[in-house]
This record gives sequence, structure tokens and C-alpha cells, in this order.
Amino acid sequence: PRSKLPEVGTTIFTVMSALAQAHGAINLSQGFPDFDPDPALLERVAYWMGAGKNQYPPMAGVPALREAIAAKLARCYGLSVDPESEITVTAGATQALFSAIHALVHPGDEVILFEPAYDSYAPAVRLAGGVVRYVSLLPPTYTPDWGTFDRCFSARTRLVVVNTPHNPTGAIWREADWAALAERLDGSDAMVLADEVYEHIVFDGARHESVLRQPGLAGRALAVFSFGKTFHVTGWKIGYVVGAAPLMAEFRRVHQFDVFTVSHAEQWALADYLAEPAHYEGLAAFYQQKRDRLRGWLTQAGFTLLPAQGTYFQLAHHPDFRHEPDTAFVRWLTETVGVAAIPVSAFYHDHRDDGVIRFCFAKRDETLDAAGQRLVAGC
Ligand code: PMP
Ligand code: GLN
Repeated sequence: PRSKLPEVGTTIFTVMSALAQAHGAINLSQGFPDFDPDPALLERVAYWMGAGKNQYPPMAGVPALREAIAAKLARCYGLSVDPESEITVTAGATQALFSAIHALVHPGDEVILFEPAYDSYAPAVRLAGGVVRYVSLLPPTYTPDWGTFDRCFSARTRLVVVNTPHNPTGAIWREADWAALAERLDGSDAMVLADEVYEHIVFDGARHESVLRQPGLAGRALAVFSFGKTFHVTGWKIGYVVGAAPLMAEFRRVHQFDVFTVSHAEQWALADYLAEPAHYEGLAAFYQQKRDRLRGWLTQAGFTLLPAQGTYFQLAHHPDFRHEPDTAFVRWLTETVGVAAIPVSAFYHDHRDDGVIRFCFAKRDETLDAAGQRLVAGC
């Protein structure tokens, strides 16, 4: 058949994980923990499966889970969100992003993406018939290039996608960044899709700034979250989307036909587990220790490190390998040194090479130490 996404291959995350496996490399490429979630969470799933939660739950998600999410939003961000009309439980953040884009973007509408960008946004926009306009985040701090934004932004702009904390750079948006966007959107009918899946992984005492708290933006935004990142269950594929009722009504028109609803027993288990703030409040400290552990090894191996303010990713470059394309460098690291990473060029539509690669530190300390030893020996 004539391809709808002719230039799209297999995602870099699948490619690098497969290469790591083929060469017995330690996999610091694809972002997922190599450890299990809290047994207490697993016990709740078993309990609710035994308690008969095995058929379709309500389309928008189990009410108890939506109430627990609303309580968490109140606690973390001081928000008052209606669980009935303003929260929908989704099949991970990926489906939330895909459905939101399909709900909001009409054929011919323009969508602004900041690059480097997570790889699922642009294909979703194109499948919806939208046109992507790319705006750079400028290294080494990866702050938005507002000059280019202003040249891209017009009456045709339907949606701006923002990701904070940001994959792959670890940069976070402060209130001033949101204010700069709000000022530009004022008076337009453009909307914002905020990918906030790493909301609880913010370091050095900084605070996550949700779009839902931003004056001038909250009423025109959908914010996307994922339990996969917060509770170490990326394989469950459960997340949620939050936004004002009129936007959520449009979201649900799509959601009810592209997935209808998501795993039932897991939703009850998450409702129980989310009720205890200690289950997510310690996450930043947990990952900050791992970030610092990996940074120590990378420095010892001769890498230069970029700032890492949030997420479980660290960007780095190695002065001795500056002349190599980042794709060749990660291939060599995987095959010869035995540590897999992600080339940041994969996050650019034009495969621009900033000379930096991404390491994931959502790994056991032993894994990070074993990878560190290989890098020190091999680089
Ligand atoms: N957005 C970003 C920025 C991500 O890093 C990820 C996970 N890698 C997702 C969305 C997708 O999340 P989920 O696994 O919940 O679909
Ligand atoms: N989000 C994860 C990452 O950035 C991977 C998710 C996926 O494999 N699609 O590594």
C-alpha cells in the first residue's frame, strides 16, 4: 500500500535496544527501569483481579482513580480539577498525545514542535493532516528560540506542543518560559499540549511547573501524564490527560473510538497506590542519586556533561569522538565498549547532530556501575 508515513522507520528506541541485546551491551538507551515496581502496588493488582475487576471499566477511567488523580493535582499543584469532566485515563502518555492531536488538529492546521522532540509527536500530527513547524531548543541549555517561534506562529497555528521536564535534554520550563508562550498565544485560538510525563523527576530542589497552573494557558491546554514513569511500570501503558471540560469533551470523542478504555484492575490498584503521597514524593531524590552516580562515571570516562535538571536522561559528549556522527559513536559504544545510548540526532526531523548522546539512568546502581566501568575502560 501507499505509505501514510513513508519516511518513518523503526523508532530509535527499538533499534538501540535490539542492538544492545544482540551485542550483550548494557542498555542505557531506551528509557525504562531495569528494576521492579513496589510489591505493594503489584499486590493491589492481584487483589483487584481477584475482586472481579476484569471487564470493561468506564470509558473515561475508573472514577476512584480519577478522584485520586484530582486529589494529587490539588496536593501537588493547588489545582481544583473536576474528575468527572476534566480527567481521562489513557493507554499511556502515547495514546493521550495521539488522541489529543487527532481531537484538536484539522487537516491543514499548523502545529509547533520544539526540537529536539520526542519522536511520537510529528507522526501523530501528520496522520491528522496537520503541518509541523519546528522551533529549536538552543543547546547547551536547550531554551526555546523565540525568534524562530515568532516567525512560525500565525493564525494557522492550532497547537503548540511543550514537553517539560524534557526528553531527551533534561531541561525544565520555568514560569518565565510559560509566560513567554502565554504572551504569544494571547488573543489567538491556538491550544497547548503539554507532555509532563516526568513531572516528579525534577532535581536540585527545582519545582515542576505544570501548564495547568499557568494563567492564560490553563484554559486552552491539555496536560499529559504517565504512571509508567512515576511508578516504574512502563509496560503497563497507563497514563492520563487533564484539561478544561470543553477540550476534554473533544478528547473523549476520539478516545472512545481509538481505545475506548484501559486495563481495569490496574486502574483500581493505581487508585489505591496514588492515595499515599510518599509513593511519588521520593522519586526526585531516588533519581537524583542515580543521576549523580552516572555523572561521576561519565566524567571519569572523559565525557563532558550537559545540565540535567529533570527526567531520567543525561546528555553528554566526548571530546575525543567529536568528529564522529553521533549515530556512529553510539553504534561503536554499543558494539565495542558494551554500553548502549541514544543519538540525539534521532530527535531532530533533519537529523541534525549536536554531537551529544543520551544515557538513561533509570537503572539499578549495579547496572550503572557496570556500565561506568566499561565506559572508563573503553573510551
Ligand atoms: N512522552 C515522553 C517525553 C516520553 O519520554 C515518553 C516515554 N518514553 C512518553 C511520552 C510515552 O509514555 P508512555 O509510555 O506512558 O506512553
Ligand atoms: N520514552 C522512552 C525513551 O525516550 C521510550 C519509549 C519507547 O520506546 N517508545 O527512551
